[in-house]
Amino acid sequence: MKSAAVVNFAPAKGSVEIREIEKPEIGEDDVLLEVANVGVCGSDLHQWTADHSWPVNYPVVLGHEFGGHIAALGKRVVGWKEGDRVVSETAAVIDQNNPMSRKGLYNLDPTRKGFGYGVNGAMTRFVRVPARCLHAVPTQLGFEQACLTEPCCVAFNAVVENSRLKPGDRVIVIGPGTIGILCAAMARLCGADVALVGLEADRQRLDVGKIYGCEGIVGDAAAWAKQRDGLGADCIIDAAGASVTLKNAMQWVRPNGHITKVGWGPQPLGFSLDPIVQKNVTLQGSFSHNWPIWERVIALMAGGRLDVKPIIGGVWPVTEWHEAFEKMHSGAVVKSVLKPA
Ligand SMILES: [Zn+2]
Repeated sequence: MKSAAVVNFAPAKGSVEIREIEKPEIGEDDVLLEVANVGVCGSDLHQWTADHSWPVNYPVVLGHEFGGHIAALGKRVVGWKEGDRVVSETAAVIDQNNPMSRKGLYNLDPTRKGFGYGVNGAMTRFVRVPARCLHAVPTQLGFEQACLTEPCCVAFNAVVENSRLKPGDRVIVIGPGTIGILCAAMARLCGADVALVGLEADRQRLDVGKIYGCEGIVGDAAAWAKQRDGLGADCIIDAAGASVTLKNAMQWVRPNGHITKVGWGPQPLGFSLDPIVQKNVTLQGSFSHNWPIWERVIALMAGGRLDVKPIIGGVWPVTEWHEAFEKMHSGAVVKSVLKPA
């Protein structure tokens, strides 16, 4: 039986098309996951527009934010059964003996390969998933929401693990894309006062941030940062895809404050980092997520404390991937979700 899949087949710009693919073979430690929903990520768009900076194993099925039912199990898989509702982590291939993996930080194993670029992803009906990637999804959490566990975990790692916010902190999140909005929502859950900062063209997405109780600011957030005592924000979370935003972050952060970078930009810096020294600021990177973060985020989503519905702009069959990608690319929606055709 063949199924339609969104395939990124070459490095040239626009090299994405629907192809009919066979049901994947699974290994002894894998399950066959029947996809219910899969989120479109900014990185899927980057592979489509060929402005990504990571190696891709062409041709590859896109999609790494997904959930569904277990359709078959490998011989050695224990603890799961056919029909179980699950979401999958993204680290499809890791070296279990890498010292980072042994520490539980397999997200930082440099040999890690993810779904959608290293191995076939989930923008199709069936995907092969190692059982160690699975997490159970309670029935009250629908898959259209559950498939977005992954970006929520990115936000949890940036905001909770890597920024250690405290109630009452004043936090500025730069960049109102999916990750920025979810970081802002997560900071609200931590009890922070939050401003979400974007450009003129981001007004619609800043309004989505307001649903999570965040202030929306176009352009300069210096006044908001200094509003309480004149010194600046406790933490800046940079979720923009441009290096230059670090300059704003250094300006808006208070002495002894914290800057966490979760957005990437390959552009070189054209300014001095001296404010980091002078203000005694911590500059922290944040990448991906691991098992305990997934368990915690699913609990937050299933318990209704973290609701991703406000960011979902629509659900399209995979065969209409182009419209779903285009809507996100133009900024008309924050997040597009697909389902098998
Ligand atoms: Zn992603």
